[in-house]
Amino acid sequence: MKALTVIPLKAGSAELSDVDDPPETDGPVLVETLAIGICGTDAEILSGAYGWPPHGRERLVLGHESIGRVLEAPDGAPVKKGDLVVGIVRRPDPVPCANCAVLEWDFCRNGQYTERGIKQHDGYLSERYRITPDFVVKVNPALGILGVLLEPTSVVAKAWEEVDRVGGRAHWDPKTVLVTGPGPSACSPRSSVSNAVSTSTCSTRWRRVSSPTSCATWERRITREPWPMPSPGPMWCSSAPAWPPSSSMP
Ligand SMILES: [Zn+2]
Repeated sequence: MKALTVIPLKAGSAELSDVDDPPETDGPVLVETLAIGICGTDAEILSGAYGWPPHGRERLVLGHESIGRVLEAPDGAPVKKGDLVVGIVRRPDPVPCANCAVLEWDFCRNGQYTERGIKQHDGYLSERYRITPDFVVKVNPALGILGVLLEPTSVVAKAWEEVDRVGGRAHWDPKTVLVTGPGPSACSPRSSVSNAVSTSTCSTRWRRVSSPTSCATWERRITREPWPMPSPGPMWCSSAPAWPPSSSMP
């Protein structure tokens, strides 16, 4: 199959490669990639400034913001064939550290975590990938291809959760939020943050969306508002439908 690969820390090394089918060791859920978002981390990897290849390999498959369709899933998995899904990026370290042990791997303390498309684990910018059921998130089909924004949106939700924790130690009535940066993670909150702070119930609603089971809450919000495409926009795989998405697609 085709995949966009790069030699980490080597500028100009990106190429469309022929690679082996996804390894069974990545998990029993087989996913067809529909679209990949490109963010600042990808730009850094492409420039040779960041990234780690898998052990014993020179090249890393790029791509961590994704939307795909399930081709195969085992009985009992939370997803089934045909579902739209997004893959979680980070994997906890194998030790594990105190935070990874309680599923807070965003705060991994020993740095031995891995990340799809970034650190020692192939990403999703291939025609297909495999993943374990506990690291794949089902997306509301009404969201369509816009589900590619779920991963950067989860970053925003996590950031807001932390802001709310810190601010909530004392009287907490925010009126203004400054969001900087041109990438998907910054574009995602621009229309939603203002809505959230104006209602003063933002903390409850934003906490809910951090759970995979309540993604629909977040999806409804971002689909009812004008959605500026982040620069440089999603990178489409050959099987991806054309932009703009329709409600029945893909
Ligand atoms: Zn850890």
